[in-house]
Amino acid sequence: MSRIPFNVPPYTGKELDYMAQAVLVNHKLCGDGPFTKKCHQWIEQRTGTKKALLTTSGTDALELAAMLCDLKTGDEVILPSFTFSSTANAFVLRGAVPVFVDVRPDTMNIDETKIEAAITDKTRVICVVHYAGIGCEMDTIMDIARRHKLRVVEDAAQAVMAFYKGRALGTIGDIGCYSFHETKNYSMGEGGAVLINDPALIEPAEIIREKGTNRSRFLRGQVDKYTWVEPGSSYLPSELNAAHLLAQFEVADQVNQNRLSSWNYYAERLSPLEQQGKLTFLRVPEECAHNAHMFAVRLKDLEERTAFISYLSDHGVQTVFHYVPLHSAPAGVAHGRFHGEDVYTTAESNRLTRLPMYYGLTREDQDKVIEAIFGFFGQR
Ligand SMILES: *Cc1c(COP(=O)(O)O)cnc(C)c1O
Repeated sequence: MSRIPFNVPPYTGKELDYMAQAVLVNHKLCGDGPFTKKCHQWIEQRTGTKKALLTTSGTDALELAAMLCDLKTGDEVILPSFTFSSTANAFVLRGAVPVFVDVRPDTMNIDETKIEAAITDKTRVICVVHYAGIGCEMDTIMDIARRHKLRVVEDAAQAVMAFYKGRALGTIGDIGCYSFHETKNYSMGEGGAVLINDPALIEPAEIIREKGTNRSRFLRGQVDKYTWVEPGSSYLPSELNAAHLLAQFEVADQVNQNRLSSWNYYAERLSPLEQQGKLTFLRVPEECAHNAHMFAVRLKDLEERTAFISYLSDHGVQTVFHYVPLHSAPAGVAHGRFHGEDVYTTAESNRLTRLPMYYGLTREDQDKVIEAIFGFFGQR
């Protein structure tokens, strides 16, 4: 029996052509060549961010963002516990303490009504995660940040081509972070981008990304030699990876529509089960245009989810759950704390799983997934 995988990395047709061009025509494989520049332009034009810079991963985009926040040991960062380790790691590596806040059960995003109570005189940053490419309640969050003079970092790793009130996710806070890992909507294998929305952070970001040098200013003719000016690192991806990504950016609308169409098909066909209370979907608030990054369903509890994943696996369908809430993971216990009560984070994460979702998923395969799900509930 052929298995329906959870993810197939996107491939749209021109990737290898462009990678060959990087090797044979441009003779440039290191970072910041023509393909990288075109990717930067595409992100800037499509999102309206002041400056986009490709990075070697979404994790590195978050690390760069954390460095830009200029944190001292013991400073606090407010974030959800229901997220990938990279969101917290970036700040812990700077000596900061992650302060976890509960999520909303409808979107699994940080509960904006619980942020203010977690603020102390050590709080410097609110780091939101737009889970599944569905936007957090950004107007409320930006208002809290302004009143308390906090920076806002958006972990928009899952949110490329997704919007809140018409604004691209990743462009609303001071800094946005994208991922182009092969499990994301647009891929360069491993890669990411930072979106710099506060103009004062553009030059510091360029310096950190270029080994702590002012090379970008030098290349623009703004200084006559380039030199080490600040602590930094190297976050430039190879042109090979950027070439792969550009091919996908050029057909981004097609990829997005294809994913949305699969997402809507799941929602429509599975809606009877939701109406019967057997499955709970994520809700997409009216202010948000999502990008169909994932189709998540929630079962009754952990036990039913385990049975569901195993039943679907026996019927040739791979489904995947995540995340172990960070505040209960060993590093979260050691380095962070949860503020307030964990009403939804653990309970909802225990009953959530994700259905196969990728560019090019066929209706025939979706029908098999849907049939297996109805089968699990004893309905055919
Ligand atoms: C994928 C992801 C990351 C990390 O991105 P990588 O490119 O894999 O390093 C960070 N945060 C979230 C929410 C993600 O989904």
